[in-house]
Amino acid sequence: MPTSFLRCFNTACAAVYPVTEVIYNCPKCGGLLEAAYEKPTWTATEMKRTFRERRMDNAPINQSGIWRYRELYPFLDSDEHIVTLREGNTPLLDAPRAAKYGGLDQITFKHQGFNPTGSFKDNGMTCGASQARRLGMQRVACVSTGNTSASMAAYASAGGLQPIIFIPHGNISYGKLAQALEYGAQTLQVEANFDQILALVRVLAERLGIYLLNSINPFRIEGQKSIAIEMMDQLDWNPPDWIVLPGGNLGNVSAVGKGLRELKEHGFITKLPKLAVIQAAGSAPFYDYMAEAGRTFHSVTHPETLATAIKIGDPVSWPKAELEIRTAGGVVESASEQEIADAKAVIGAAGIGCEPASAATLAGIKKLTAAGVIRADEHVVAILTGHVLKDPDYIYRYHTGQLKDPAGSAIAATFGNAPTVVPNDADAIAKLLG
Ligand SMILES: *Cc1c(COP(=O)(O)O)cnc(C)c1O
Repeated sequence: MPTSFLRCFNTACAAVYPVTEVIYNCPKCGGLLEAAYEKPTWTATEMKRTFRERRMDNAPINQSGIWRYRELYPFLDSDEHIVTLREGNTPLLDAPRAAKYGGLDQITFKHQGFNPTGSFKDNGMTCGASQARRLGMQRVACVSTGNTSASMAAYASAGGLQPIIFIPHGNISYGKLAQALEYGAQTLQVEANFDQILALVRVLAERLGIYLLNSINPFRIEGQKSIAIEMMDQLDWNPPDWIVLPGGNLGNVSAVGKGLRELKEHGFITKLPKLAVIQAAGSAPFYDYMAEAGRTFHSVTHPETLATAIKIGDPVSWPKAELEIRTAGGVVESASEQEIADAKAVIGAAGIGCEPASAATLAGIKKLTAAGVIRADEHVVAILTGHVLKDPDYIYRYHTGQLKDPAGSAIAATFGNAPTVVPNDADAIAKLLG
């Protein structure tokens, strides 16, 4: 295994630290950290063959769609620390009608909702929890009411660690919090907003020796690289023209971009796909920033969107996301609540389904093809980030015409599919069914 280390992402600093140091920001300059490795000794051809052979193997770490590719994130010193629920292995799905809706000849969805806890957070959390065990930590924590807490609770409990979740008072997403409770997380509700709680948790983590698994943790980004790696393996290492994904904290686009750059560096692929990030219009600081040359980054004080997984006003990973978008000539787009809701129904009607944040992809693609940024004949892979059942209340309201945006305006049930009330009468029902 090549030597691994933590490096400050701020190129003016570029300080390096041992991979075993418990730090979340650069102690010298406060910048973001990333995992980095010495040059590998294997060749891409050897690795491609090994990755394929492992798919036929019953060993848990080879069945995992993350750890199968472990040479590409070799930060552990021993496989015995690995916590796996057989994450990854998520399918590529074609959806002709969704392609047509998006203005494309063809679309492929990479559906991360097929993960053990129903979102791509599992790809990163298997790495974060494994690193926690390697460091000898007993407790792990995060601030989240969403997929991060569901995933962290599952991986911590599966790995014999105690998960602690901090949530703001009120404003709770019950579907996801329910998973965290079921997976055994100790859950603390604090009378403060998200940013205040994060500051509090950082103090507590240091004082009590608790390992933080919020998306600032560089090992989560390492695990999420596997989304790009597995996708390329499934495409026989032929990159698509575009990869489209929703953006909240912007950790995932940072991870996918880093994964692709490293694959190209190591000779697995010969070109980089362009990345398109779609934000919800009411929560789009990165879109605003990238739309205007020379602009400084401003967070959004009161982010609003029903797509709660991307309702983030102050995304931690924006500098990394900017590098990844600019590297291959990508774009950032935004989508309205109506556009996201309609795109979601179209993905559902294809028999696939996803949670609201994931549908921002198709909503954004529709706008980008209309603007001529993405051509109809280009190969586009959209990453569906979460499972359809994460937010059932949203679905029922949409299809019955009761969904309202955060400002209280009605969202039209453009592709509504409401249940029909019928009498207990065979003749009447037969007539209705034709
Ligand atoms: C976390 C999450 C996102 C946003 O990902 P970021 O890395 O925060 O940009 C999008 N969709 C779903 C379902 C998520 O759980």
